[in-house]
Amino acid sequence: MPRACTICSHPDRKTIDARIANKEPYLRIAKRFGLNDVTVRSHAKKHVNPVIDNIELQANAAVLERVMAYRDEVNLPLPEKSKYIENKLWDDYWMLEKPVERMAVMREIAKQQQEQAKLAGAYIKDADNPADLKSVARTVAEFRQRIATDAEIYAATDGKYGHPMPDGDWIAGEEMKILKLHKVLPEQLATEMGKIG
Ligand SMILES: [Zn+2]
Repeated sequence: MPRACTICSHPDRKTIDARIANKEPYLRIAKRFGLNDVTVRSHAKKHVNPVIDNIELQANAAVLERVMAYRDEVNLPLPEKSKYIENKLWDDYWMLEKPVERMAVMREIAKQQQEQAKLAGAYIKDADNPADLKSVARTVAEFRQRIATDAEIYAATDGKYGHPMPDGDWIAGEEMKILKLHKVLPEQLATEMGKIG
């Protein structure tokens, strides 16, 4: 009889699953909870990743549905329409609580931005292309601005609207997701942000 998975019945399972979902290295999770990394890997493969895959599929389908609806809302030339969809998606981004839903929206935002750049004739698929890097830097700058604005609104309305300022780790994590999405290295971005900011 196969041995039961010890992590499934672990008191810290929720935290462990969240770390696996955040793609924290198995070895680091194992060390933190005094587990064997083979056990963590096996639990991730059998009991966490299939669930995440399914949730991601559902999140992507939901985003696609939104995009289809936004597409029908306005009759604009293609580049403006794509910008309109992107703005609607940004609004969605801030309304969504679950990271998996935010990531699905973020991926679609990246697609819309590429679409706009393509339509403007500026898009070259190579991530080393400075034009592409500039647009990523702008996305990150806009992301930071939106967090700051949101925190200001939160402070000004005594927490009635907006969101509190998230901690630095959270911001860095979200920025890494944006960079990974565009296959850009943090050092490349830093140079570009220096030029932009
Ligand atoms: Zn398990």
